[in-house]
Amino acid sequence: MRIEIATLFPDMCETVLSESIIGRARRAGKLDIHCRNIRDYTLDKHRRVDDTPYGGGKGMLMQAEPIYRCYEAVCEDFGARPHVIFMSPQGKPFTEKRAIELSRMEHILILCGHYEGVDQRVIDEIVDEEISIGDYVLTGGELGALVVVDAVGRLCEGVLADESCYMDESHYNGLLEYPHYTRPPVWHGREVPEVLQNGNHAKIDQWRREKSLENTLRKRPDLLRTAPLTDEDKQVLRRLREEQSQTGDDTEE
Ligand code: SAM
Repeated sequence: MRIEIATLFPDMCETVLSESIIGRARRAGKLDIHCRNIRDYTLDKHRRVDDTPYGGGKGMLMQAEPIYRCYEAVCEDFGARPHVIFMSPQGKPFTEKRAIELSRMEHILILCGHYEGVDQRVIDEIVDEEISIGDYVLTGGELGALVVVDAVGRLCEGVLADESCYMDESHYNGLLEYPHYTRPPVWHGREVPEVLQNGNHAKIDQWRREKSLENTLRKRPDLLRTAPLTDEDKQVLRRLREEQSQTGDDTEE
């Protein structure tokens, strides 16, 4: 998959995307990620990309033309139109489900706003979807774009060792994951659960599923409304809820 980030701060993105798993996947040719400096596409002799907003008000706006010319260059280089995402606090909240869908696309362009935002006309002209990383306002779209690239990139083929690396993790199947433990077996008087040490894989799977349900019930009970649950899961949840009500540890859904 090819991901392009259109930004005024390509170095900020490159720094993050050269590190760790995503950086390694890029160097191994598993992920094709490019950061484009929108400033390279301005026709202004002072390389200006912003101007004051019509109607007055504080702050500057990113102009439409440099962004559009950057988009055209991406289309030309790839030979096709990418799926265009605009990072915005007004966008749809980003989820693992959307990350999975995006990871199946061939070519994505992520546009990062800055200052007061972007001239609406270029959003109307080229953007397919707006994505928000949460209900708060950042100074620019770069951190959001990096969140999207990291979440999408790790799902692409060859980036992690195999599918099980992400299929068991929180949110992939609608639940939160079970807890993990590593050596030593006892630390500060706290023991690794016995079931994880006896090598019985059927029992371990059953324990992990139950702990995953318990974690979700305790920390994010809202997820249980849409998570795909088996009859056995529902039975476990009934028991956990009963236990909660006996200990007075009720969670609100
Ligand atoms: N004036 C805009 C508004 O109120 O909707 C906010 C502009 S914000 C200061 C500058 C840029 O940061 C935005 O254009 C967007 O690209 C990015 N940004 C800010 N908050 C974000 C969020 N929660 N998710 C994704 N991008 C965000």
